[in-house]
Amino acid sequence: MVESMAHLQEEKLRLQQELLALQEKLSTRENEEIAVSVQLQGQVENLKANLLDQAKEISRLRSELGGTDLEKHRDLLAAENERLRQEMKAREGELRALRQQQAPCLACEHVQENGRLQERLAQLQREVEEARAKLSELDLEVQQKTNRLAEVELRLKDSLAEKAEEEERLSRRLRDSQETIASLKSQPQQVKYIIKTVEVESSKAKQALCESQSRNQYLQEQVGMQRQVLKEMEQQLQGSQKTAAQLRAQIMMYEAELERAHGQMLEEMQAMEDEKNRAIEEAFSRAQVEMKAVHENLAGVRTNLLTLQPALRTLTNDYNSLKRQVRDFPLLLQETLRSARSEIGQAIEEVNSTNRELLRKYRRELQLRKKCHNELVRLKGNIRVFGRVRPITKEDGEGVEAANAVTFDPDDDAVLHLLHKGKQVSFELDKVFPPQASQEDVFQEVQALVTSCIDGYNVCIFAYGQTGAGKTYTMEGTSANPGINQRALQLLFAEVRSKAADWDYAITVSVAEIYNEALRDLLGKEPQEKLEIKLCPDGSGQLYVPGLTEFRVQSVEDINKVFEFGHVHRATECTNLNEHSSRSHALLIVTVRGLDRSTGLRTAGKLNLVDLAGSERVGRSGAEGSRLREAQYINKSLSALGDVIYALRSRQGHVPFRNSKLTYLLQDSLSGDSKTLMMVQVSPAEKNTSETLCSLKFAERVRSVELGPGSRRAELASWPSQEQLEVTEPPPRHGDSPGAVPPAARGHSSPSPGPLAGRAASIRRKLQTSG
Ligand code: ADP
Ligand code: MG
Repeated sequence: MVESMAHLQEEKLRLQQELLALQEKLSTRENEEIAVSVQLQGQVENLKANLLDQAKEISRLRSELGGTDLEKHRDLLAAENERLRQEMKAREGELRALRQQQAPCLACEHVQENGRLQERLAQLQREVEEARAKLSELDLEVQQKTNRLAEVELRLKDSLAEKAEEEERLSRRLRDSQETIASLKSQPQQVKYIIKTVEVESSKAKQALCESQSRNQYLQEQVGMQRQVLKEMEQQLQGSQKTAAQLRAQIMMYEAELERAHGQMLEEMQAMEDEKNRAIEEAFSRAQVEMKAVHENLAGVRTNLLTLQPALRTLTNDYNSLKRQVRDFPLLLQETLRSARSEIGQAIEEVNSTNRELLRKYRRELQLRKKCHNELVRLKGNIRVFGRVRPITKEDGEGVEAANAVTFDPDDDAVLHLLHKGKQVSFELDKVFPPQASQEDVFQEVQALVTSCIDGYNVCIFAYGQTGAGKTYTMEGTSANPGINQRALQLLFAEVRSKAADWDYAITVSVAEIYNEALRDLLGKEPQEKLEIKLCPDGSGQLYVPGLTEFRVQSVEDINKVFEFGHVHRATECTNLNEHSSRSHALLIVTVRGLDRSTGLRTAGKLNLVDLAGSERVGRSGAEGSRLREAQYINKSLSALGDVIYALRSRQGHVPFRNSKLTYLLQDSLSGDSKTLMMVQVSPAEKNTSETLCSLKFAERVRSVELGPGSRRAELASWPSQEQLEVTEPPPRHGDSPGAVPPAARGHSSPSPGPLAGRAASIRRKLQTSG
């Protein structure tokens, strides 16, 4: 027990010591606590002061530059904008009014000026619009900045509230701790536990202090950042202020512009107003004058009206009488028509009788004309002789042989000179065509003959000359440059067409050939068949060729077909067409039959176009066999042609037509009042001068047989043979063949000495010079 008492005593002592130590500790703890709470209070005070400062700073910043200024600026701009809008509206109203006032003078220069001003205005409006857009952009920016500012404020407020809460919490805990200490002081038993709690709690308070310190640090950083943001915003604000100032300046400029335009408009309006007033005044004064005149007129009209009333009365009377007349008019008209009809009938009767008389006279005239024509032809000689000289061609060769031997008289187109063996011999024909004469020129001279065929005359056109002198060229020509044959038919067609109103015509053609005195039909089915020339059995004395084909032709195409047909037949019948054609006579016989529908008169004319065989004297050059026979036949027929022409021109009782097939066939086209043209073709080449001389002599003789009736027979009793034509040549040597026909055997009684023929020409020349 004592032990336990001592133990308890010891324990009591130890506890007392411990309590003392604890009291000491507590008192130091108390002192510490007090110091910490003082320190904490100081820190809280500091924080409070800091917060206050920050709030002050924020409000200062806000009042200094922040949202309020921007807002103010925005408000200002908005107000400005509103004012501008109002002003614009007012201007537009003014403009509308002006436009209405300007409507009457649309065309004047003010309108144009106004248009220009309006354009300017529109431009200004556009610019104002742009400024407005910029302004609204700036507004938006300001709005955004204000929002951000509000956010920052909100965040600051939140952190302040948090701090206040923390403070509250800390002071609450401080109070609690102090209360705990007090209760511990009063309850020493619990001290140990409480001290422990206090220790724990004070460490917690320390931790909280640390946290709040770090939070304070963070808040300070935030404030710094906000300041930075504020600075940037300040800069932005400055930029937008600058832009706003610029915009304001622009707006001011536009306003000035507007002001000016407005002023101009007002001036123009004033001028227009003045003009309008002037015009109104003028119109008014004019209207007054006109009014006065109208009044005067009215007075005149009134007096006129008074005088017109009696005239109206007489007019009404006239009208009534006219009405009566109109009623009677149909009867009157019928009567007049009846008398007019009888008068017209009478007149027609008279005209008819006059017509009949005229027709009678016309027929008599026609007969007279024909008689006159015949007389004229008789006087002129119905046999004409032309000469045609072809140009020198390649076929003539070169050098002396191809030299030109023919010259012309520039003043007389009927004369031609031939240089033969150094002597110049001159010839006179009816007409001479030089080498340059065209087919057209030649036809011009021939066409009168061709047309007379329509009037019922028989016509013969012969092409005479040596081979190669141009006979075929003159008669047929080339396709590009046709000769007399085709042109004659074309002309006949044209003439017939022009007379178609009164006449019916039928044109037929035959194509024939005479070779070695045999007549052949080149259009017939059997061209080799020899045709006979017969007397018409009706006793008219007319000749006809039984079996000779006649083609009716109506166009140039028809003619071409006929010619082609003839050529084909001629070509198939011989081996050498050129040679053959030069030794045969080619005939194109055109018959024109006409009927005058009004008189019933009938005509029939024949046009014989003959391309004669070559006139060269082959017989003399010692040709033999068939060539000689051909030559003799040609010689015979050409001599016979000469004889016939001679006999006709010298009006002999007997004309030896029967001496050759050619003359016999053409008998009715050579006799009576028929017309004949001999186209003598010559070559101008030196080598052909002999033949040329012969041809020209033949031509001259044909032409010169125009003599007085007494001397005719004596002078020109005979026609020279082809061989005798060239008097300077040695006398011809007739062959013994039966084809060689001496002049005596050709129907002429006396022989024909060469010089006689030459005399014919000289007599003609004498007659011409003495006449
Ligand atoms: P013929 O019929 O007399 O034998 P051609 O008519 O055949 O002669 O003519 C012989 C050559 O001369 C042909 O080549 C022809 O074209 C040419 N000729 C003839 N006369 C003329 C002329 N007036 N103009 C141009 N060439 C011509
Ligand atoms: Mg020929």
